[in-house]
Amino acid sequence: MKTRKEKTEIPENIPVITPEMMDKTAIEIAKRRGRKKESPLKKVTDLQCPSCDNNSMDYVDDLTFDVTLAGERVVISNLTGLKCTKCSEEMFDASSTKLIEKYTTGRPTGGYECNISTVGGGKIGLYFPKDLFRVMKIKKSDKVVLTPVSNRKMVIELLNSS
Ligand SMILES: [Zn+2]
Repeated sequence: MKTRKEKTEIPENIPVITPEMMDKTAIEIAKRRGRKKESPLKKVTDLQCPSCDNNSMDYVDDLTFDVTLAGERVVISNLTGLKCTKCSEEMFDASSTKLIEKYTTGRPTGGYECNISTVGGGKIGLYFPKDLFRVMKIKKSDKVVLTPVSNRKMVIELLNSS
């Protein structure tokens, strides 16, 4: 008699839920819950501000988190937390912080990433990311000065073209 000891195979036609999908769902749930469930800071008023020392930190639900990561701007609005009525110092509460982390963790801040490619003749080439053209005035045939700062860092400076 044959014993059935094989591993249970998962049929291919069953949809697989990836960790990414789980994360997306978690964000959606957090957002919905955030709207329904009240923040633990909801009734907080006149808390001491860590920035100006006045007792003027109040609960708000219209904070905005705004950051530019590698070529991409992330804006999250309607976040809950505290805001100082005197100096405008802002603090995000736990659920807002969690949401911000979801969108920003693992992403490099600032700068634009691109790959160095070989162009032959012992030279290497660099394709500037498109996003750079939106923020800088770079034209074909522009001259640049490359200044090594260390063996991992250099400054690329555009020369004024007339
Ligand atoms: Zn303040």
